[in-house]
Amino acid sequence: ARFTKEDIMRKAEELDVKFIRLQFTDILGIIKNVTITVDQLEEALDGKIMFDGSSIEGFTRIQESDMYLMPDYDTFTILPWKPRKGAEARLMCDVYMPDGQPFIGCPRTILKKVCERARNMGYEFYVGPEPEFFLFQLDENGRPTTVTNDKGSYFDLSPVDLGENARRDIVLALEEMGFEVEASHHEVAPGQHEIDFKYAPALRAADNIVTFKFVTKAIAMEHGLYATFMPKPIFGENGSGMHLHMSLFKDGVNAFYDENDEETGLSQVAKYFIGGILHHVKGFTAITNPTVNSYKRLVPGYEAPVYISWSTKNRSALIRVPSSRGNGSRIELRSPDPSANPYLALAVILAAGLDGIENKIDPGPQTFDNIYEMTPAERLAAGIESLPGSLKEALEYLSKDEVIKQTLGPHVYEHFVKAKLIEWDTYRMQVHQWELDQYLGIF
Ligand code: GLN
Ligand code: MG
Ligand code: MG
Ligand code: MG
Repeated sequence: ARFTKEDIMRKAEELDVKFIRLQFTDILGIIKNVTITVDQLEEALDGKIMFDGSSIEGFTRIQESDMYLMPDYDTFTILPWKPRKGAEARLMCDVYMPDGQPFIGCPRTILKKVCERARNMGYEFYVGPEPEFFLFQLDENGRPTTVTNDKGSYFDLSPVDLGENARRDIVLALEEMGFEVEASHHEVAPGQHEIDFKYAPALRAADNIVTFKFVTKAIAMEHGLYATFMPKPIFGENGSGMHLHMSLFKDGVNAFYDENDEETGLSQVAKYFIGGILHHVKGFTAITNPTVNSYKRLVPGYEAPVYISWSTKNRSALIRVPSSRGNGSRIELRSPDPSANPYLALAVILAAGLDGIENKIDPGPQTFDNIYEMTPAERLAAGIESLPGSLKEALEYLSKDEVIKQTLGPHVYEHFVKAKLIEWDTYRMQVHQWELDQYLGIF
């Protein structure tokens, strides 16, 4: 850790902190807070704050409900939009058992484990996320709508909507919290935005994604807007993805780069990593795209991937290799969406890539054509398969992927699948407006 307990105590005093939110996520990636006052900070920093784990989705049974929060000191940051006299700060935490062992159901702990495995192989995993989201108006009762008064579009120069102001304040808040925001722009759909922050080691990147989501929601609210990370809120418009730019570094050098490879400029390690992802992507899609709605995004025509392929040339591929090389060498996985639990998502993606390296999984040839323009027969001939088409299908692939299941561990795997099957069943039994429009008048 960069900071010691004394550093945090001193900072809290300097910044006039009164409240501290101890944060962690449940299995579904929903952020949870236990708020303490500064009087309890020392105790909290020693990992002595307890909460009732049985009330958290996917945690423990009633009879073993006492859980402890172990803060990561480096995540101490002020919440800049809150009052500064008696300020509010937060710490990201790992969840521990009463016996002092890390809790196997803690998503952050699961990611840490895979990162540790990578480190034992000599690699540090870096991730730069590109989360997209919509800003919608609230109705008179304060409930979110899907209405936007926005007239902007992709990279518009003269912003004309409320959303632009909200987005500017989101970026300012993030910067005050120590984020390096690389880019922030309007996205393709009305009311849709993207904020990209600088790549970081995977654990930090996942913390940043979680933080980013709650900051975005809080600041949007201050502007009377609702920020949603739902993957596909509006039929007929682009959905919201969360592309992940990823690389491995070995001894401070980008391990994905090989100047001697004339075709791609990529190392063998990068190719095996891609091979591992392509091999396991069906198995981990339930984790990276975990909602019923996620699969409404993964359809042709909206810049979201459908087919399993990689390319240094075109954006229709699932894995795109951006053109920068040297230490900027990286791959971009385009399927994940922001409804994913970022800790679990990065854990399974890294595990897939490492499996590719360990088992020398060849990614096959890259695709040069626009895959969406190929006929089904051409795709078949080229061996290009599709991502799972529904949450149900994704869960079936997950159940067959031992590498991904092992990465999650039996506790998270079972709780996740159970919750998601209920979600699927509830959805499946609904009668949707589309069915009424389609059938009521005919039959
Ligand atoms: N919104 C698109 C998606 O769903 C991405 C658009 C873009 O970043 N060019 O992934
Ligand atoms: Mg982008
Ligand atoms: Mg984008
Ligand atoms: Mg992108």
